[in-house]
Amino acid sequence: MPPGERGSLWPVTPKRFVIIGGGPAGNSCATTAARLGAHVTLVEKDIVGGAAHLWDCIPSKAMIATGGRLTQIHEAPGMGIAVTPAELDFEALRRRIVEIEAKLQGSVSGLLENQGVTILEGSGRLTGPSTVTVEHPDGTTTDLDAEVIVLSTGSRPRVPDWAPVDGVRVLTTRQAYPPPELPEHLIVVGAGVTGVEFVHMFSAFGCRVTFIVSRQQVLPQKDPEVAAALEDDFLARGVRLFKGARAQSVTVDEGAGTVTVQCDDGRAATGSHVILAVGSIPNSETLGLDAAGVAHHDGYVTVDHNCLSSVPGIYAAGDLSGKLPLSSVAAMQGRKIAEHAMGLHAGPHRHLDYEKAASAIFTVPEIADVGLAEADAFAVGRKIRVTKVPFSANAKALIEHDPRGFVKIISDPATGVVLGGSIVGRNAAELISVIALAVTAGLRVTDIVESLLVHPALAEALADAAE
Ligand SMILES: Cc1cc2nc3c(=O)[nH]c(=O)nc-3n(C[C@H](O)[C@H](O)[C@H](O)COP(=O)(O)OP(=O)(O)OC[C@H]3O[C@@H](n4cnc5c(N)ncnc54)[C@H](O)[C@@H]3O)c2cc1C
Repeated sequence: MPPGERGSLWPVTPKRFVIIGGGPAGNSCATTAARLGAHVTLVEKDIVGGAAHLWDCIPSKAMIATGGRLTQIHEAPGMGIAVTPAELDFEALRRRIVEIEAKLQGSVSGLLENQGVTILEGSGRLTGPSTVTVEHPDGTTTDLDAEVIVLSTGSRPRVPDWAPVDGVRVLTTRQAYPPPELPEHLIVVGAGVTGVEFVHMFSAFGCRVTFIVSRQQVLPQKDPEVAAALEDDFLARGVRLFKGARAQSVTVDEGAGTVTVQCDDGRAATGSHVILAVGSIPNSETLGLDAAGVAHHDGYVTVDHNCLSSVPGIYAAGDLSGKLPLSSVAAMQGRKIAEHAMGLHAGPHRHLDYEKAASAIFTVPEIADVGLAEADAFAVGRKIRVTKVPFSANAKALIEHDPRGFVKIISDPATGVVLGGSIVGRNAAELISVIALAVTAGLRVTDIVESLLVHPALAEALADAAE
């Protein structure tokens, strides 16, 4: 029987938790465990809130929101509004990001303190299967022992050895929210979610953008139809696309104030700045995994369906677990760990099903999907029913002067059960929640069709697609 299948591994409900890393995974585990009666110590070396608040989700979405508002102003004449040209106030944007981060950090710390979680500032590492040493900024140390240890130290950007990152002209994703100055001509390397969001936000700010994509499709993991919709939009905005080109070197010309990215197919792009969005690596080198006997692969902790590592009592969550690198997934893993370790709700029905996690890309048009993808179904020869409607047939989309995109629903042809879906268009990240609920709850297309929805609403496109 897999560990934890029938309940907690522990004969007595564990009470002392030590959590290393205060991002979404660590915080959600800490608050849930404390609510369930555990004594929780959270060790964090920077700020509670984690990379998600400081460098990733929040600043990126704040910058995208500003770019989106700017675009709306530019498009206002189409809504019958005469406008004088609007432009980005880069310093005001910088202040806005700092303010949002401070507010969120305050609310996370407040929540942890209200739940009675002890926050220790410092860097934590395992010294054995149930012991942790914390090194504080002043050089002193604290030794802790615990019945439950949760490793949630996250990940950081991968820096290729051919890229001379200087934080000025050659930037990782962490140095780009916001960058030291607004690029005149930005080169983005990396065609995944982070890369396309950079292309979108900086082109919305009015910067020239060149996008280096090593495959023949942006977002190579996504539905080709979804990726094509985004590519069309980028091209319409004047983004220069280098497809099938793998970056192999970056050179900086300080005198000219330029950077040049050389690609393996002979093409080269010269601009004012380059951002590398080429993946991430786990924060685990100094975590003492081997000292505690915790199994790992490529630096990611090996976990089972309960996020339990190879050592009883040691769990891993978030990016460090090598599962889906999303804040939402990290937070859910943290919660599930707290419940499992406290002996609550154990059993297969409580396991996280990563294939049912909704995700979004905050470009314009916005992209969101959940569950089974059409291409994956075809790859395994699974019969599916695919229904699709464009937003151009939706009254609210026309009212909003944004009829781009479509809704696609994938269902089982025999039972009508909703298996997945993709949305490209305005508010896709919000609208996908309906399909996510249907996928998680095993609802049928008729359940969506027969819902009495608001009119006019973008959500009506979901009912039309489910028809
Ligand atoms: C550019 C970008 C944009 C993103 N946007 C989104 C988005 O819109 N939506 C979404 O769902 N996901 C998004 N993600 C992914 C998301 O940021 C991560 O999946 C999420 O932050 C993972 O949470 P975590 O708790 O595992 O780690 P983190 O948020 O990385 O937190 C880990 C914490 O551990 C601390 N730490 C590390 N080592 C130690 C140690 N030894 N001792 C003490 N503390 C330590 C760190 O200081 C940090 O605070 C984005 C990622 C990137 C790169």
